Amino acid sequence: MNNMSDLLLLPDLKTIEPPQENESDMMFKVEATFPPVRCPQCGFDRLYKHTSRKQLIMDLPIRLKRVGLQLNRRRYKCRECGTTFWERLISIDEKRSMTKRLIRSIEEQSLSKTFVDVAESVGVDEKTVRNIFKDYVALKEREYQFETPKWLGIDEIHIIKKPRLVLTNVERRTIYDIKPNRNKDTVIQRLSEIKDNTYIEYVTMDMWKPYKDAVNTVIPHAKVVVDKFHVVRMANQALDSVRKSLKANMTAKESRTLMRERYILLKRKHDLNERDSFLLDTWLSNLPELKEAYELKEEFYLIWDTDDLEQAKDRYRYWRQCCLSSNSKNAYKDLLRAVDNWQDEIFNYFDKRLTNAYTESINSIIRQVERMGRGYSFEALRAKIIFNEKLHKKRKPRFNSSAFSKAMLYDSFNSYQITDRDKTGNYGVDFSTLIKKLEKSNL
Ligand SMILES: [Zn+2]
Repeated sequence: MNNMSDLLLLPDLKTIEPPQENESDMMFKVEATFPPVRCPQCGFDRLYKHTSRKQLIMDLPIRLKRVGLQLNRRRYKCRECGTTFWERLISIDEKRSMTKRLIRSIEEQSLSKTFVDVAESVGVDEKTVRNIFKDYVALKEREYQFETPKWLGIDEIHIIKKPRLVLTNVERRTIYDIKPNRNKDTVIQRLSEIKDNTYIEYVTMDMWKPYKDAVNTVIPHAKVVVDKFHVVRMANQALDSVRKSLKANMTAKESRTLMRERYILLKRKHDLNERDSFLLDTWLSNLPELKEAYELKEEFYLIWDTDDLEQAKDRYRYWRQCCLSSNSKNAYKDLLRAVDNWQDEIFNYFDKRLTNAYTESINSIIRQVERMGRGYSFEALRAKIIFNEKLHKKRKPRFNSSAFSKAMLYDSFNSYQITDRDKTGNYGVDFSTLIKKLEKSNL
């Protein structure tokens, strides 16, 4: 049946009978192509067939039909030392009773389909698919060790309705890891896993206490920084809540117009064009309460318009007083409380600030991943992002001229290339490469 084995194309198994098939499944009877030659124990070649048993091995589907191999597995005995052993087959994964190529295929399919669909199409149960994927992720986790960031970013992405922890390398603009939730224990666990975590000097985060507690627990030497954009957007939220509260005293038409033009309020004054400036003046002169809240917003932004820490602190103290004596103090109470609770971390911004390019990139990734997240399991989406080597940013290996000339002189050129350490210097998932992929939606 030599031509039958061509259908399976497995290196060490051959078909011994024509396959049987029905509408959805195929069954091949197979056995080892090459019997073992030597005893694995003593190395002598005096072997004989001892017993055999039938074993079911699942293989890749053919023309969308599930394929099962009925393997006639033989046991050999050594005349020399008496050892008995089952023949070894390299194309089979013994733990799963599947061909290794089926496992590769399940791993790959799990990245884009549900576990149930994968299970159905290849003919194994869902739990097995889930376990194969789990093993795959664990393997990849060991394979890709990203370099520890000196400056760590902590952020979050909403995937399937839950906020998920995102760790970034701020300086390299890469994603370091994504975890299923942002609980304190999860952050502590993840930071503890980083062997050289003393290398981390700065951690930029939003004002979320579990992050700060986790960082202070695991890497107390690291300086926590809250970036400006996390703080100033609270001023915008405060102003917007004042706008909404004014709806009661306006006509429906007015409040709709103001709602449509609210971007004018939220932008910085100096960024407005002539027309928008005019509209702003009109609104503010008609609505004194809005004017007061607006001026507080603008003055809050002013705190960040200096490079000088002491000046910024002075401006904040002044702003705080104005705020407390204004009618808008209630709208700004969340912001006041946040700055009171996070003062050191907020003013650390004057020591270590994110660039606009970083902030824009991470925000764009967050938006796009949230949009595409539907339809994937969290684990699959994470694996697609983290373990895709094409997205990784790597340091180019340094050319080692002395090793090179040594290799050339002593005829060890091939081994020189192999030992070239390619795996170090992987910084993680490159923001810009990921953004390009997401934009073309071909992740
Ligand atoms: Zn032997």
